[in-house]
Amino acid sequence: MGQSASSPAPLPFPPKDAVRDVIIVGSGPAGYTAALYCARANLQPLMFEGDIPHIPGGQLMITTEVENYPGFPDGVAGPDLMEKLKAQAARFGTELVQKSVSRIDFSKRPFRVEADDEVRFGKAIIVATGATARWLGVDNEDEARNRGASACATCDGALFRGRELVVVGGGDTAMEEATFLTRFATKVTLVHRRDSLRASKVMADRAAKNPKIAFKWNSVVEKYLFDDKKYVNGVVLKDVKTGKTENFPCGGVFVAIGHKPNTELFHGVLDTDENGYLKTKGGPKGATMTNVTGVFACGDVQDSYYRQAVTAAGSGCQAAIDVERWLEAVGH
Ligand code: NDP
Repeated sequence: MGQSASSPAPLPFPPKDAVRDVIIVGSGPAGYTAALYCARANLQPLMFEGDIPHIPGGQLMITTEVENYPGFPDGVAGPDLMEKLKAQAARFGTELVQKSVSRIDFSKRPFRVEADDEVRFGKAIIVATGATARWLGVDNEDEARNRGASACATCDGALFRGRELVVVGGGDTAMEEATFLTRFATKVTLVHRRDSLRASKVMADRAAKNPKIAFKWNSVVEKYLFDDKKYVNGVVLKDVKTGKTENFPCGGVFVAIGHKPNTELFHGVLDTDENGYLKTKGGPKGATMTNVTGVFACGDVQDSYYRQAVTAAGSGCQAAIDVERWLEAVGH
C-alpha cells in the first residue's frame, strides 16, 4: 500500500524475541483501530488477528451490509469494511499475525503471549477479542445465516422492510430488537421458550404495548424453512408443552438469545461484570484500563450495552491513547 508524502514508510518489524511496546489480541473494529493509533504513535504494535474459529475481523465478517458506519453513505459490506480497517492499520506499521492466542502470562511484565508455536513479549496488552452472538444451534442454521436469519437487528433490520419477522428470545435484547424491527416490519412475532419473560419490566411493557408485536409463548424454533431461492421463508415452531409443531411463515428471523464475550483467555485474572464482560475503569481518563496494570480492553469484550462497530472502533482509539500515555508515565 502506497505512502503519502506525510507518512514515511514504517520501520522494519523488530525481531521475534524483542519486547514489543504493545500486543493487541483480536482484530475487529476495536483491535484494528487500536492498532492504527498505536502504529501512528510509533509503538510498532503486534496484533494477533486470530484464526478459525476466531474469525479474523470479528463479527462484521459475517454481516452483510453495514449501513450505520459513518463515512459510507451507500453502506459497505462487513468484510470490505474490515479489509479497509486492516489495510489502514498495516499501512502505518502494524505487524499482523493470523494466529489465535492460546495463553497469556499476566503474572509479570513484560507479558508473555503464546500463539501456536510463537512466544512473544509485550509491555502492554490491548484485549479486543470481541463477543460472539449466540445462535440457536438447530440443524440447518448455517444455511439460514445471512439468507434471512440474523443475530443483529441494528445491523440488518433495514434490509427487512415490509416483511413479517420472527424474533427469538425473551430477554432485553429480544424486546429491544423486536421493538426496533417494527420500524421496518409489518409484524414481529416474539418466540420465547417459556411463558414469562426474562426482560426488564419496562422493556417487556414497551414490546407488549406495541400493536405490531405478537408473542408466541412456550415455543422453540426446530428448524428454518426456505423458498426455492434458498432464502428463509418460515420456521418450524414446536410448542414445548404439547410437543405439537407448526410451520410458521415469516420473511426473516432475528436470533436474540444473548452474546458471549470472548474471555476464555482471561478467566480468574481480569475482572468481569455480572454478565461476564471485562470490567474497565471507564470515566474520562484511562477509560480502557483493566484491573491488571498494563492491560487494556476495548470493543465488545467489555461492552454489553452499545455493541456497535463504531463504538468498538472508538474504544479501540481510547485504548491506544491509554497505552501510549501509560507507557510514557511508566517511563518506557
Ligand atoms: P439474556 O441472557 O438476558 O436473555 C437471553 C434470552 O434468550 C432469555 O430469555 C433466554 O430464555 C433466551 N434463550 C437463551 N438461549 C436460548 C435458546 N437456545 N433457545 C431459545 N431461547 C434462548 O440476554 P440479552 O442479550 O437479552 O441481555 C444481556 C444483558 O444485556 C442483560 O443484562 C440485559 O439486561 C442487557 N441489555 C440491556 C438493554 C437495555 O437496557 N437497553 C438492551 C439489551 C440488553 P430464558 O429466559 O428461558 O432463559
